[in-house]
Amino acid sequence: AKELGISNFRFFTGELGEQASSRLLLENSLRRGLERDEFRLVYQPKYDLREDRVSGMEALLRWHAPDRVIPPWEFIPLAEETGLILPLGEWVFREVCRQVSLWTDEGYPPPEVAVNLSARQFHQDGLVSVLKAAMDEYSVSPSRIGIEITESGIMEDLVDSVAILSAVKDLGMTVYVDDFGTGYSSLNYLKRLPIDVLKIDKSFVEGVLEDRNDAAITRAVIGLGRSLGMAVVAEGVETREQLDFLRQNGCDGIQGYLLSPPLPPGETLRFRKAGHTP
Ligand code: C2E
Ligand code: CA
Ligand code: CA
Ligand code: CA
Repeated sequence: AKELGISNFRFFTGELGEQASSRLLLENSLRRGLERDEFRLVYQPKYDLREDRVSGMEALLRWHAPDRVIPPWEFIPLAEETGLILPLGEWVFREVCRQVSLWTDEGYPPPEVAVNLSARQFHQDGLVSVLKAAMDEYSVSPSRIGIEITESGIMEDLVDSVAILSAVKDLGMTVYVDDFGTGYSSLNYLKRLPIDVLKIDKSFVEGVLEDRNDAAITRAVIGLGRSLGMAVVAEGVETREQLDFLRQNGCDGIQGYLLSPPLPPGETLRFRKAGHTP
């Protein structure tokens, strides 16, 4: 038994050691990636079903590491834990402002671009002045910028969230609640938060046709949004049938591969000029 204990122990520390060193490797290459300017943004269009037009885009982060393009779910959690999300998030926001001002100079100001903020970044002291400074620097009107913050990120610290969201709204930016339906919102608080748009998580949209619960939740979120005076946008819409369901149930807008995948900046202009409909 003693022998077994020892070998188990070795096995255990061996695994832990491996995990820790691969984390350290990733952390180091994240740091290096930031220094070497390896991050890029792609932009996914949003479509307004009421006004029948492209209403804006969402900026999504890609890491062009030397050997491959790394998707956000592989590095955002570690960036959050290590705090690297703060410089990275600031880079994202400034890059969006730079791009919006570039498009504006070219004569094609985008209706709106929304930026994902991680919970840690959202609750960081001085966030609002960082955002404001970037918009000022690039002469971008806050009305052209939105922020997307997850439901769980808001619920982490409600008092702080009310203050931040109010300040962001006062600047004239649009506030989206991301992944709505996956967290534990107190409906009582929801009405006190200055929120413009609820985004129904794609995990519900995926099942609206086959799964009664997903359909019920989607309908409920649309109803909730309506009664609270918030718009509702569904993400991850891939099929015509999902779109029909959402339209029939009064959803305000959609986003997803059916309309367009996320696009590199150069392709978004072509997309917008072509006047696409889903
Ligand atoms: P999210 O904000 O919920 O973004 C939606 C994700 O769904 C994106 O994945 C998008 O590419 C993907 N998607 C869009 N349409 C469809 C569709 O029709 N079907 C399916 N199956 N997927 C679709 P992506 O780009 O890999 O981003 C994943 C998550 O990483 C995002 O989820 C967001 O939470 C986070 N993220 C991305 N960019 C940033 C960023 O700049 N900052 C922070 N803090 N988080 C980011
Ligand atoms: Ca989002
Ligand atoms: Ca704070
Ligand atoms: Ca989501």
